[in-house]
Amino acid sequence: MIIIPRSPRFQPSAFIRLIPNSATPPVAMTSKVLPIHLYSLDSYPRLRFPELKPSFLSLKILQIRCAKRSERTGKQRYPSEKKKLKLKKKTLVDIKNRDEGFWRLSKLGVPVHKDPGKDYFGVSDALLEAIAKVLEFPVSSMLPPEAFTVVRKSFDARKLVKEPKFVYTVDMDAKKLLNLEPRTWDFISRLEPKVGLVEYMPHERVPDDLISMIRNFERHEKIGSTEGGDGVLSKGSSRIETRKKPKVAVVGSGPSGLFASLVLAELGADVTLIERGQAVEQRGRDIGALVVRRVLQLESNFCFGEGGAGTWSDGKLVTRIGRNSNSVLAVMKTLVRFGAPENILVDGKPHLGTDKLVPLLRNFRRHLEELGVTIKFGTRVDDLLVDSGRVMGVKVSDTRHELHHGSKNLGCDAVVLAVGHSARDIYQMLLSHDVHLVPKDFSVGLRIEHPQELINNIQYSALATEVRNGRGKVPVADYRVVKYINEEDVETSSISGETSRSCYSFCMCPGGQVVLTSTNPSELCINGMSFSRRASRWANAALVVTVSEKDFETLDCHGPLSGVEFQRELEHRAATMGGGNFVVPVQRVTEFMQNKLSVTSLPPSSYRLGVKAANLHELFPSYITEALQHSISMFDKELPGFICGDALLHGVETRTSSPVQIPRSGSTYESMSLKGLYPIGEGAGYAGGIVSAAVDGLYAGFSVAKDLNLYQGGIESILGEAQRNMGFVKY
Ligand SMILES: Cc1cc2nc3c(=O)[nH]c(=O)nc-3n(C[C@H](O)[C@H](O)[C@H](O)COP(=O)(O)OP(=O)(O)OC[C@H]3O[C@@H](n4cnc5c(N)ncnc54)[C@H](O)[C@@H]3O)c2cc1C
Repeated sequence: MIIIPRSPRFQPSAFIRLIPNSATPPVAMTSKVLPIHLYSLDSYPRLRFPELKPSFLSLKILQIRCAKRSERTGKQRYPSEKKKLKLKKKTLVDIKNRDEGFWRLSKLGVPVHKDPGKDYFGVSDALLEAIAKVLEFPVSSMLPPEAFTVVRKSFDARKLVKEPKFVYTVDMDAKKLLNLEPRTWDFISRLEPKVGLVEYMPHERVPDDLISMIRNFERHEKIGSTEGGDGVLSKGSSRIETRKKPKVAVVGSGPSGLFASLVLAELGADVTLIERGQAVEQRGRDIGALVVRRVLQLESNFCFGEGGAGTWSDGKLVTRIGRNSNSVLAVMKTLVRFGAPENILVDGKPHLGTDKLVPLLRNFRRHLEELGVTIKFGTRVDDLLVDSGRVMGVKVSDTRHELHHGSKNLGCDAVVLAVGHSARDIYQMLLSHDVHLVPKDFSVGLRIEHPQELINNIQYSALATEVRNGRGKVPVADYRVVKYINEEDVETSSISGETSRSCYSFCMCPGGQVVLTSTNPSELCINGMSFSRRASRWANAALVVTVSEKDFETLDCHGPLSGVEFQRELEHRAATMGGGNFVVPVQRVTEFMQNKLSVTSLPPSSYRLGVKAANLHELFPSYITEALQHSISMFDKELPGFICGDALLHGVETRTSSPVQIPRSGSTYESMSLKGLYPIGEGAGYAGGIVSAAVDGLYAGFSVAKDLNLYQGGIESILGEAQRNMGFVKY
């Protein structure tokens, strides 16, 4: 008989295989997986589907079965077992409204050959197959794709997996699914949460972008002073302004400064954003002049200027502060609002690339200006105006003119210091005001560069041909390696007294290039960047070793700025070894491993200002060199071919994160030693990377607004608790 499909996606051929009398017996034809109504196909056209609701509402709370844990109970349970059990209990409690809720299906694997590829974020037939498997639904083509939303897509080509695959996390809207395809009811009603695989959510997890969030928030929460009091007009609020807006100076337009400015301006502060560097248009020209003509603008370069250090970067938006946290999602959604492609919300390893960052920052700027923010580019804060232990304003000078005559004083109620880790003059200035600074651990090392093709081959083997310069089905290959080094691992383990340290790859830029991040011609340091397609011939990554205060002392660096001095010393050495003019000292990795320097020609480098062969052992104290040597040999075991004649080490990578922390209150974000000063972001030692800096700026913005009586709290109930002490967070 011919069956007339009810669903537009219905495929008769697939369905016929389910008919018991069909010539091909159905594979999955067991009462366990097939619901009764699919057996009665003779009467199919007349088949009535049961009412949906009762089945779900009458569902009993599911039993927790502790399979392997039966031997261990109560206190005997391992912490991981207790955690899982707690999670399971929590999930089960929420299941009452399952016909209204959402199901998050995780770890759905789709083999590469079946997937449309890395740039597709919709619901493909192959993904529906994986979903059907989890739901134990026999005919994937009957599942309406509209009921599913991809919330994460990653590529997994690890050697230990049988076949390279895309791994999805998908949200299933139960109500939509049941409306579009009522025949799924039975499968949904039997769906059980499984820790890490299937999770029930009563509501969809879709935090807004920050702007919508604040504006919605304003409608519901009390903002400013109490009703009838001297209210402060804030965007979206209908109250009349009856007193002057509080003035806030935000110093630095990196991610932390931009997000702090956004929150404060949205909440009604009178914000002046002060940036020593130039707007992206002029900054682009300045960076062009550096790369082509070796002209380093001291105030407009890879570290200074609109968008901060991350503008001419790979724009990786990965973070270790919790990718799924509401605060990170709010930042990501805000970036999308300003023009970032939507796929950053879904991609397992989102990145933007310089070409996408520049227009995004222009939109960000326009929005701030519309809110009334005064943006002063080419303006450097040289000093703080302090009276009776409180900041009263800032002293600024114009950086666009050679002779910086005419410093100006700007008075304000609060100063948000978001200057990044290269504003060494600011650290010095803070010390002059007795602001408490403490040296902070960070990492130093070298940047290694390989041909991208080699990394593709190491990571993907035969699948490497699918990369196609970033236009192919699979992402341009990257890597992340880490090795903990103990005393036994290296010969002269620790002159400085450190017994263990870690060596790891950092800021890997697939299809990228090595760039100069010096802010002074007598110092030389490098980093990496790439464009959105990651199409260059090279893959670079920093290989760095953790260093701490004890290590700084070995180079005779002491005091709160000992870490800065340590960086500076290494940067001077690198500049000298390169011979000046921003030429970078390099060494083949094979020769670095053997501590020799041959006269043979060097492999090509993406670094545009020239390289010079040098023995990079002379750059570092031996404990760093040995740690690097040891871990590189380990990395080669993980990534066979990592040590090869084509791989070139570039020196020196020093500005991995801030060498200083400016202690601040965990709740108010105010400096512990100077009232009215709010140190934030990477330079203050509370972030490491674009996303964590933006998140720090976001929370700080709310805190400052609270202190200024523009807002009365409650954001943590929406965004979650801010992470404290994020200074060691790496992206
Ligand atoms: C080349 C490169 C590539 C990178 N790639 C990535 C990446 O792919 N992903 C990632 O997550 N992170 C990356 N980073 C790190 C990332 O850029 C930083 O972690 C992040 O920008 C820190 O944000 P921030 O707001 O704290 O400080 P910054 O971004 O450093 O911003 C500080 C701003 O303050 C300004 N400023 C400093 N002093 C003064 C003053 N006295 N007066 C006025 N203005 C001042 C500076 O000009 C600067 O614009 C990269 C960094 C570099 C240099």
